[in-house]
Amino acid sequence: MQKDPIRIVILGGGTAGWMTAAGFIKGFKPEFASVRLIESDEIGTVGVGEATLPQLKSFNDFLGLNEPEFMRDTNATFKLGIDFRNWGREGDSYIHPFGIHGQAINGVPLFQYWLKARANGHDSDLESYSFPIMACRNLKFDFPSEDDRSVRSTFAYAYQFDAVLYARYLRRWAESKGLQRTEGKVVEVNLRPEDGFIRSLTLASGEVVEGDLFIDCSGFRSLLLGQTLKVPWEDWTPWLPCDRALAVPCDRAGDFTPYTRATAREAGWTWRIPLQHRTGNGYVFSSRFTTEDRAAEVLLAGLDGKAQAEPRLIKFAAGRRKQSWYKNCIAIGLASGFLEPLESTSIYLAQMASDFVMRLFPGKDIDPKLVAEFNRTIDIEYDRVRDFLILHYHANQKPAEEDPTGLWRYVREMTVPDTLIEKMETFKHRGHIHRYRDGLFAPPSWIAVYTGQNILPRNYDRQVDNMSTEAMLEKMREMQERVAVNVEVLPTHADFLRDYCFDP
Ligand code: FAD
Repeated sequence: MQKDPIRIVILGGGTAGWMTAAGFIKGFKPEFASVRLIESDEIGTVGVGEATLPQLKSFNDFLGLNEPEFMRDTNATFKLGIDFRNWGREGDSYIHPFGIHGQAINGVPLFQYWLKARANGHDSDLESYSFPIMACRNLKFDFPSEDDRSVRSTFAYAYQFDAVLYARYLRRWAESKGLQRTEGKVVEVNLRPEDGFIRSLTLASGEVVEGDLFIDCSGFRSLLLGQTLKVPWEDWTPWLPCDRALAVPCDRAGDFTPYTRATAREAGWTWRIPLQHRTGNGYVFSSRFTTEDRAAEVLLAGLDGKAQAEPRLIKFAAGRRKQSWYKNCIAIGLASGFLEPLESTSIYLAQMASDFVMRLFPGKDIDPKLVAEFNRTIDIEYDRVRDFLILHYHANQKPAEEDPTGLWRYVREMTVPDTLIEKMETFKHRGHIHRYRDGLFAPPSWIAVYTGQNILPRNYDRQVDNMSTEAMLEKMREMQERVAVNVEVLPTHADFLRDYCFDP
């Protein structure tokens, strides 16, 4: 029988710190674990991270948050996917939806029928079979249907929100449930001489905070895992050369999109994230291929509303710590690694890491098998996201006149990880996508990027031949029509959001 609660100390009050704290408070009884969070107002948070994946809704549901209230308090909007512009070539546009490209026929994905139809000269737009994509294209939104026969059941949704307000919202929630928060700057990390585990943190005020398990959510500083325990960094910049971002909010203007936009630019890409009260914008770029002044010029020229501030520069590097859990310290969020926000994956990675810590929860004595299992799982998730991001860059066909800085030629010609080469080869055969039991990303995501960037398989899945071409084309036409009819009757994203959050 456990006598005293396990003392968990979370260093950092950004999105990662507060999500972890809220999850632990919800998941553990106070007699089992006490949770204390330390954050420094002087240091502050990175303050970006506005676009999410559908898993965030599951996290909010786990906490039992009231969705309209959460959306009002964080100025959130709905998100059905990401619109990638100019990635293959200038003028291209495709949507990576949080859903499928049409319902399967006889258990085979519609994509395979589409490939056969194409091979037979019946070209149609793959996007027209996807309910979430067509909802995006028409700026519409509604919740998914629970009837899995309906095309309206073929998607999930996420949010776009003000990251600072979300951390604040979670703080209020967690404190109301008994979380102990301390404002203060950690100036010293004290190790146990016998085994090098962390014993306590000393704050600038002189207070010493002891703990059994330390969660490092200190952001890019990685104060505990990186700086103190010296866990090495694995550098991925040869594959993902962007190392800077300029971020700037602007007045709301242009389409109120139920999606994030990622537009390829001369030395990287810009994001556009519509919130209720403003639009978030940023330019992720490589300092090897452009200057900060030029990047600011490109960013500001692409805004669709008036800038609300000067662009803010954030420096980073792609990569991750070789271990996220070492001794009695687990890094979550930017303290464990960074992958650029092209597919809005960082918050997801923090969420899955904190969820996994809860499931494996070690107790006071740490079993190395748990540590190994945690690190193995985190590595898999990071590697998959890395390969997926690299694909976006690598699969470009920009000619020299569309590539004034040379970035696009570099990423097209660079050697990519073997794991990605295998995935691309498998796809090029018959459009087959490697399957994962869980984690990111499911086959429709890869299909969206491959086809959107003009990579098509040489052949199709021969199970499709079990149906005559005429019957197949008829079923595909029906699917297209069902999508169109169902999208037509949806409310606009703006109307839906107003009614749901402000006029229930
Ligand atoms: P931070 O927000 O930096 O928090 C660190 C915390 O540690 C702060 O509270 C700080 O005060 C505290 N701290 C540090 N040192 C000390 C100390 N010595 N004493 C006390 N406290 C200390 N992710 C997405 O999922 N979607 C996106 O769209 C997205 N966009 C991004 C855009 C950019 C340009 C960047 C750089 C990142 C983006 N991310 C995005 C990532 C996302 O911002 C982070 O994953 C998320 O904000 C979590 O950050 P964090 O909590 O790890 O770190």
